Amino acid sequence: MKTLIDPFNRKITYLRVSVTDHCNYRCYYCRDEDHQTNTVRNEVSSYEEIAKIVRLFSELGITKVRLTGGEPLLRKDILKLTKMLGEIPNITDIPISTNAHLLAPMAAKLKKSGINRVNISIDSLQQDVFKKITRGGDLNKVIKGIDAAIKVGMSPIKINMVVIKGVNDNEIEDMIDFAINKGIDIRFIETMPIGSAGIDTSNNHYSEADILKRVIDYLPNKLINVKADQTSGPAKSYLIDNTNTSVGTISAVSNNFCKSCNRVRLTSRGRLILCLGQENSVSLLDAVRGGMSDEDIKKLIIKAINNKPERHYFDTNIYNIENAQMVEIGG
Ligand code: SAM
Repeated sequence: MKTLIDPFNRKITYLRVSVTDHCNYRCYYCRDEDHQTNTVRNEVSSYEEIAKIVRLFSELGITKVRLTGGEPLLRKDILKLTKMLGEIPNITDIPISTNAHLLAPMAAKLKKSGINRVNISIDSLQQDVFKKITRGGDLNKVIKGIDAAIKVGMSPIKINMVVIKGVNDNEIEDMIDFAINKGIDIRFIETMPIGSAGIDTSNNHYSEADILKRVIDYLPNKLINVKADQTSGPAKSYLIDNTNTSVGTISAVSNNFCKSCNRVRLTSRGRLILCLGQENSVSLLDAVRGGMSDEDIKKLIIKAINNKPERHYFDTNIYNIENAQMVEIGG
C-alpha cells in the first residue's frame, strides 16, 4: 500500500467525509443564524461517488474515515454508505460524529453495520442553555442517543463540548460527572474562529489552560496521562483514576497541533479541503463526474496533498476563512 506524505513530512492517514451540509441543529458557533443549506441534490456526492473516492484514498494509504456533516444521520440510508465503506480494503476505522438527535433508533443498526466509535456533540446539560446554543435542539433526545450508543456497546463513545465563556463554562465539572456516570469519554473543545459564527463566538473564547485548570482542580491527583494514539487525534487526554472515563482538550487555538496533522476533509459536494484553517481545495467530484481515470484522480489527490498548507493562522489571520461555514466543512 502506498503512503501519502505531505511536504512537511506528515503522513496523511485520515479522511473526514461530510455526507451532507444539512443539519437539524443550528449551533450558533458553527453557522450563521440566516445560513441556509440550499444544496441541489445533484450537487451532493452520491454514495457510489463517495465510496469510489474513499477507495482511491485507501489505495493511497488512508485507513480511517470519519463520517460527519452537517448531521450525518440525516442523510437517507446512511447505513448503505457505512456498509459500502466497510467493504473497502484497508479502511479499518469508520467512526461517526453526530449531534445524536436521531441516534437512539439507529444505534443498533449502526453498530451492526460496523460503526463502533461515535463522537457526540453536547454543549450543555441544562435544557434552556442547550436549546439556546443549538437554536432549538432537544437535550432529552441527545441523552437518549448517548444511552442507546452505550446500550448497543459502541466503544469508545466520546462526548464533545465546545466551551464558551459566559455561556456554558460553568458546566465543565457537571459534564465530567455526566461522563463518569455514563462510563464514556469527554473532550472539551476550544472555539475556533472559522466563519463569522466561529469568529463571533471566539470573542468568548475559553482557553485550554483555563479548561485544564478547572479539570485539575476538580480531580486533584486523579488524572493519569494517556499517551496519544492513532484514535486520539489532536486531543490531549487523561484517564480519570478508578473510572472508565478519559477527559481531554482539543485546542486548535492555544496549542497549534498542525505539526502532527494527519487528516484532510471531503465536503458533501466532493471538494477536498487540505486544512481546516485555509482555503486550499480541489474538486474530486468534478474529476469523478468528468470521467477521469482512477490513476489520474489519484495523481490529483497526490498533487493536492503536495499543496497541504503547513498550518492554520488562527492567531494572526482568520480572514481567509471568514466566509466558511463549519456546518459545510464538517468540523
Ligand atoms: N453534526 C455533527 C456534530 O454535531 O458533531 C457533526 C458536524 S459538527 C460541524 C462537528 C464538530 O464541529 C462538532 O463537535 C462541533 O461542536 C464542532 N464545531 C463547529 N463549529 C465550531 C467552532 N467554531 N469551534 C469549535 N468547534 C466547532
